[in-house]
Amino acid sequence: MKKHTTNTDVRQLQARKRKLLALLSLPPEAMPGSLAQSHYRCGSPNCHCTRDEGHPHWSLTFMSEGKKRVHNIPKARVEFIRERVNEGKAFKQGVAELMVINAQLFHLFEKRDRDNKRRGKRKAGD
Ligand SMILES: [Zn+2]
Repeated sequence: MKKHTTNTDVRQLQARKRKLLALLSLPPEAMPGSLAQSHYRCGSPNCHCTRDEGHPHWSLTFMSEGKKRVHNIPKARVEFIRERVNEGKAFKQGVAELMVINAQLFHLFEKRDRDNKRRGKRKAGD
């Protein structure tokens, strides 16, 4: 019963791994971090921004060599950057999932080896 469950787990993990490997290719234009909109006041006393929420402003925030970087993004480029960021995020998630699957498969194979050895010993002792 237990052995069957392990084999099913291995098959499911291997199937997911094949799927991930087929899907995952390094997106050449991927970008890091997150895109966010904020608002600012330009300082002009007659501007509408003194009365409303302010001028919308987009930025991309990411870490580089341990430092937080913030790049301004022109409004016209926001959708382009959003897609690049999503590509990067999907790739990172895929790689992270692949590595977890590999660790789980290693663990299951080790367990299977141990169980087989134990069973072999018991047979030899009988
Ligand atoms: Zn203003």
